[in-house]
Amino acid sequence: MNFRVPFINLSAQHDSIRGELEDAIRKVLDSSAFAGGRFVQEFEEDFARYCECKHAAGVGNGTDALWLSLLALGVGVGDEVITVPNTFIATAEAISLCGARAVFVDVDERTYTMDPSLIEDAITDRTRALIPVHLFGQAADMDPILEIARQHNLFVIEDAAQAHGARYKGRRVGGIGDVGCFSFYPGKNLGALGEAGAIVTNSDRLHEAICILRDHGQTRKYQHARIGWNCRMDGIQASALSVKLKYLDHNNSRRRSHAGQYERVFAGMEVIVPFEAPYAEHVYHVYAIRTTDRDEVIWTLREKGIECGIHYPVPIHLQRAYKSLGYSTGVFPVSERVAEEFISLPMFPELSQMEMDVVMFSLKEAVLNKALRSDSPSFLARVAS
Ligand SMILES: *Cc1c(COP(=O)(O)O)cnc(C)c1O
Repeated sequence: MNFRVPFINLSAQHDSIRGELEDAIRKVLDSSAFAGGRFVQEFEEDFARYCECKHAAGVGNGTDALWLSLLALGVGVGDEVITVPNTFIATAEAISLCGARAVFVDVDERTYTMDPSLIEDAITDRTRALIPVHLFGQAADMDPILEIARQHNLFVIEDAAQAHGARYKGRRVGGIGDVGCFSFYPGKNLGALGEAGAIVTNSDRLHEAICILRDHGQTRKYQHARIGWNCRMDGIQASALSVKLKYLDHNNSRRRSHAGQYERVFAGMEVIVPFEAPYAEHVYHVYAIRTTDRDEVIWTLREKGIECGIHYPVPIHLQRAYKSLGYSTGVFPVSERVAEEFISLPMFPELSQMEMDVVMFSLKEAVLNKALRSDSPSFLARVAS
């Protein structure tokens, strides 16, 4: 079997705009604006405009973005921050590394994002902030989350690392809560040529605090108002990101079109396809289906040359690193169940029709064969009951 369908293909993305990217890198080289500087400022303006937000601050990566946001909001030792267990570990790490305690609430079974009906039970006197994650490219249900935050005087930080350009009730994610955090890790919907991230906000005060914190707490050269860290974005990344940002909407619409095709072909099969909530415009950073015997299906697909992923196989409350929080198996049933059923299929803008056909045909075959051999009740019927 020679034909391979990669999980993601960054060369395809960069080959088509290689000249533009090389020019962008050369401009930085010519001007030596490597750390912070003109290109970072230009990208920040472009990205804030794109997010329909007043400010954007470039930082080193998405983890920095989350951590600096919490620091800028004054979250620290003794505080609690509520997020979800089915996310990339960085969401929780940022909470822990500013000294606060991560508190989890389970997610909605259809959207896989924070279930607003579970938040109030998790709020204590120590709760300071909520971090909903716009997982896989779909916004969390922000209105009820913002309403709970308002009632309890909590900050809302959007983890938008997987949702560049996604919309919630027509608004771009990132600027809906107090701050929005983005990652430009190469595989994200908007990816740098290395590591980068950004924080967007409509608050002048928060933006200023973030800009000071990311540069060692400096207010003027060698005048340090508070203890910060080095979380600056670099010029080459900023310059490349300004080029790639122009193609983001087009690329997101390609992803949406691929998702539509997957969904039409998978209809009626024993798999659960992603649900696009009525309030959302999903940008399919990850196209995750659910099925029984997930590992077997992944192996069958791998034998046919198709690379899949799992996002994520172990929820954070069950990770060894978070053992000290004292959560046990069974406390977040939705997150735990979906972690065993998820398969992320190849999804990237440049996916060809031939590649999609191979994925669709092979998955159909894998799932049908599995159903023929099994005498257990239908997966969909079981999930629905
Ligand atoms: C990628 C990601 C991050 C971290 O971003 P980095 O740039 O890798 O530090 C945080 N949260 C979520 C949900 C992510 O997917």
